[in-house]
Amino acid sequence: MLTEEQKIRYSRQILSPSFGEKGQEIISKVKVLQIGAGGLGSPFSLYLVASGIGELTIIDNDVVSISNLQRQILYNETQIGRNKVEMAKDVLSKLNHNVKINIFKEHVDDNSIKKHLRNHDFIVDCSDNLRTKFLVNQVAVDYNIRCVISGIKDFFGQIMTINPKKSACYQCVFSKLEDNEIEKPSSTPLPVIGITPGILGTMEALEVIKTALGLPNLENKLLMVNLLEISFNVIDVARASSCICS
Ligand SMILES: [Zn+2]
Repeated sequence: MLTEEQKIRYSRQILSPSFGEKGQEIISKVKVLQIGAGGLGSPFSLYLVASGIGELTIIDNDVVSISNLQRQILYNETQIGRNKVEMAKDVLSKLNHNVKINIFKEHVDDNSIKKHLRNHDFIVDCSDNLRTKFLVNQVAVDYNIRCVISGIKDFFGQIMTINPKKSACYQCVFSKLEDNEIEKPSSTPLPVIGITPGILGTMEALEVIKTALGLPNLENKLLMVNLLEISFNVIDVARASSCICS
């Protein structure tokens, strides 16, 4: 049951026929593991926490730097040099006290993801490198946990949602990438227009909410976003019989 405060707080989304009080009750129990608290992770966590999910766990090992501020809207100039997860928790807790925020300043690897995965309904990749995206996908498949993965570069982005063993996984779609391309160090900065992760990170939050509510989502679909030409193309994708998810 929603409290009176929750009914007022979420009244505008409760008005949606696709949402309603029932939808809000479902959302308020959703637990999400977020990998990375940067360009994608900023809008992702802000919108998800504002919408009133139950619990958000964030893993990130980075500190705030001046070059982050062009796109990582969780942070500001007073926080340079501080731990991102601590700054994120400060902002997100003040945004919505109803949401439990757990933070871990840890390097993202197989161990840290698996350690904090337990009891979560979703794992969402907000990282900036392919190695982590494939790792998140692998863990999602191994533990049968729903997953959203996005990638961005310059004015361009991609996003897909994975329901393990039921829909195509990230590796079904991107298996042709060479190992050396996946392992390429993330210290080589890619061009990023700040608004690109703003839009794709927001869409990752949208996917979590819609998937939790059983609404149409990006399972078996890859959304290709081109913000230079302003085009959104949805490509149907299918599970590969030779993939790790089969
Ligand atoms: Zn697969």
